[in-house]
Amino acid sequence: MSIDAFAAPGRFFKGNVHTHSSRSDGTLPPEEMCRRYKARGYDFLAITDHFLPHYDFPITDTRAANEADFVTILGAELHAPATSAGELWHILAVGLPLDFAPTGAGETGPELADRAIAAGAFVTIAHPDWYGLTLADAEALAAAHAIEVYNHTSEVHAARGGGQVLLDGVLGTGRRIWALATDDAHFNIEGDVDRDAFGGWIMVRAEANHPANLLQAMKAGLFYSSQGPAIEDMHREGNELVVRCSPASEIILLGRGSRAVLAAGDGLRERACHWRPSSVTGAGWSFPTLRADGPGRILSGPEPARRPSLRRFDGLSPPPHRKEALRNEGRAGER
Ligand SMILES: [Zn+2]
Ligand SMILES: [Zn+2]
Repeated sequence: MSIDAFAAPGRFFKGNVHTHSSRSDGTLPPEEMCRRYKARGYDFLAITDHFLPHYDFPITDTRAANEADFVTILGAELHAPATSAGELWHILAVGLPLDFAPTGAGETGPELADRAIAAGAFVTIAHPDWYGLTLADAEALAAAHAIEVYNHTSEVHAARGGGQVLLDGVLGTGRRIWALATDDAHFNIEGDVDRDAFGGWIMVRAEANHPANLLQAMKAGLFYSSQGPAIEDMHREGNELVVRCSPASEIILLGRGSRAVLAAGDGLRERACHWRPSSVTGAGWSFPTLRADGPGRILSGPEPARRPSLRRFDGLSPPPHRKEALRNEGRAGER
């Protein structure tokens, strides 16, 4: 996200932008999914069925579910050959037109992603941990807006719900990319159908709860991702980043490579953290991670404040003039 989200006009709207209905391999009809998300307090939902020939390339039409206080964004999960591991690409595209043309013979994942972006979609590199994406894969999807740093169904079904390593790798190359949390719910766990839903979402700052406003805000990075906590405010005071949030036990500002600074305690909240971004990287910083109610509760915060320097510290001694600064800035330690 961009820290600008907290200064932008409008308010935050809660939504999930990755989920599957009975139009592909989910179990619930789209109408019932909209009903459940609305009942759980969500403001918007994107049903993103698998855009595959055996499902007849669905762009699931949920427009009839749109109301004053709940809207849907049309989208799909796109597939084409092939990742570096030889798997079919999974590319999340939110904001597609209903007439988005079926995948062409020979069309590659990156070509499909580019076509979705040209059609107006917000495109995300889906569940990187679940199917083993590499930095080269992320670089192949050069125009993608975001990476999933949390995919709830991948966590529930396969204990591989994360994407932090890939996100850090991409940010480390100097590319600006947003961090997204989603459900990817299929409602397919017998006896506990909600188990892979309502676990990861985004809070989008927009002037109106309308698909066009939400999409525009997402592309501008005016959102944060959560599995629980809420960020109430985040701003800079001089060289410092100040975070105000719902009660959290740990707030960590992540930096490049192994670097991070921690604020720990019970019920951390207002002005709990004053960080100097330079204490984390010296050349741009990643995002705060907040933990509350146990492990795995994460929130993505701001984009790098500056383009990260391409100078790398990993495996190399920092330049002499940086050594003293690193000592003084509370280096995170060798882990
Ligand atoms: Zn997928
Ligand atoms: Zn999916």
